[in-house]
Amino acid sequence: DQFAENHFIRTIIEEDLQSGKHIAIQTRFPPEPNGYLHIGHAKSICLNFGLAYVYDGKCNLRFDDTNPEKENQEYVDSIKEDVQWLGFQWEGEPRYASDYFDQLFDFAVGLIKEGKAYVDDLTAEEMREYRGTLTEAGKNSPYRERSIEENLDLFMRMKNGEFADGSKTLRLKIDMASGNINLRDPVIYRIRRAHHHNTGDKWCIYPMYDYTHAVSDAIENITHSLCTLEFESHRPLYDWVVANTPVTGKPHQYEFSRLELLYSITSKRKLNQLVTENHVSGWNDPRMPTISGMRRRGYTPEGLRLFAKRVGISKSENIVDMSVLEGAVREELENSAPRLMAVLNPIKVTLTNFEAGKTQSRSAAFHPNHEEFGERDVPISPTIYIEQDDFAEEPPKGWKRLTLGGEVRLRHSYVMKCDEVVKDANGQVVELKCSLDHDTLGKNPEGRKVKGVIHWVSAEHATPIKVRLYDRLFTVERPDAVRGDDGEYVPFTDFLNPNSMQEITAYAESVVNDLPPESRWQFERIGYFVTDRFEHKQGEMPVFNKTVGLKDNWQA
Ligand code: ATP
Ligand code: MG
Ligand code: MG
Repeated sequence: DQFAENHFIRTIIEEDLQSGKHIAIQTRFPPEPNGYLHIGHAKSICLNFGLAYVYDGKCNLRFDDTNPEKENQEYVDSIKEDVQWLGFQWEGEPRYASDYFDQLFDFAVGLIKEGKAYVDDLTAEEMREYRGTLTEAGKNSPYRERSIEENLDLFMRMKNGEFADGSKTLRLKIDMASGNINLRDPVIYRIRRAHHHNTGDKWCIYPMYDYTHAVSDAIENITHSLCTLEFESHRPLYDWVVANTPVTGKPHQYEFSRLELLYSITSKRKLNQLVTENHVSGWNDPRMPTISGMRRRGYTPEGLRLFAKRVGISKSENIVDMSVLEGAVREELENSAPRLMAVLNPIKVTLTNFEAGKTQSRSAAFHPNHEEFGERDVPISPTIYIEQDDFAEEPPKGWKRLTLGGEVRLRHSYVMKCDEVVKDANGQVVELKCSLDHDTLGKNPEGRKVKGVIHWVSAEHATPIKVRLYDRLFTVERPDAVRGDDGEYVPFTDFLNPNSMQEITAYAESVVNDLPPESRWQFERIGYFVTDRFEHKQGEMPVFNKTVGLKDNWQA
């Protein structure tokens, strides 16, 4: 199948289905709507929705929205769009953890009544001191032994807005001496007067992530709750919450390793900083490792799913080179993108023996393996453009392209010989005078082999296009993991590549005139390009973004 195979989570699921522990599986993808999704989320989406697909189960989309200040509707909308664009559909309506705020509150009251939760007055700083360290047990808060009645009263008054933000919390009463710091009386509610994108101003107390997540999974009858490895040590707390709240679901949490991409960043918070500090044009800037940025760059859902399959699922480190991502995207586009010719760095070629009426054009297929993509006419005129670097006056050894006195095949057209080089006052080559072999349209020349084939466009027929060329956004492999001499992290923004984008004018075959946005093409011998999703407008100069080159040039 098209999803990552044979990983340990699939083994667990297959055992659970075989043993009858579960009749069907239910997964969920639980993003916090505090930014746009990135390539790491794509891995998690393909995992969760992919498992539901493979095992005939269901996958929910749930917004984990417990931090009102950082969350908003724009992020909710973009997340839905990105999941669907990747090719997945969640079960029913999207869920919101905030839809469970009433239940979460009632369960918290229940925990207080059972003596399993208490209201604490310690400040955040005091709480840190009381928590202890890895090697040293924590200390009980002086408020830990409040009576159930007092706790119930205080918690209601917290809810009713009687106390200042941050002045009180509700904590689980578990074990301040636990070897697992997450079990040292974790906070499950805090006071925060903040407008919430979903519940408005209804609440001034908000539940914490661990509590909310476990309860939400149980409410939704999630069977396999998949998250990244940093939550491994939270699992005992997750299990505690499931065991101590009146939920029917019995979800189990499993952890896999987070995807990291070299020369990139996979953290919404840091990507947000790139946006707010204007280092990029927005979350969907084609240089961003966001799903919407990669979409705008021309990556396909199929290419991203192929990438997710290739990186696989495991518990070992998952740091991946950009070439793996680009390789998957390239591989998929090779078969799916029609082809045309465009010249990015033109040099003028005058055809000295062009004869109107006699010099013919040819029709050429848009893809060698896809007849159904159709054909177009490839017209020729007395002036054509070729790439500057397809000509060398003094060619290196093994040169197959054009040189003075040499011949090349013009792709889909004639064999052409260079007879004369025209230079300007500085000795720069500004024009080539060439002649066509009129007996070579659609056939090989007599008595000699012409090895080189180059792309070109007819000056008279070509359409000028805007092309944005991209390079890596960062100049180092791990931009957010570089330490300076003082041992402190260097700001990752210090490693932004100042030359990550270049805009040029190029010339393309006139088929580019009528393209809709997000039309993906191979420019022969160069790479894959896409008409910009937002700035390409029919009737105006076409705008293309370079998706990826034909060859891997990351290693260079
Ligand atoms: P970020 O730090 O970028 O905000 P997060 O883990 O806080 O990441 P969430 O919105 O909470 O982001 O993530 C939703 C789901 O996506 C979670 O289940 C999380 O484990 C998964 N996820 C996030 N980043 C990655 C990653 N780099 N690799 C794999 N899965 C990821
Ligand atoms: Mg998170
Ligand atoms: Mg986060």
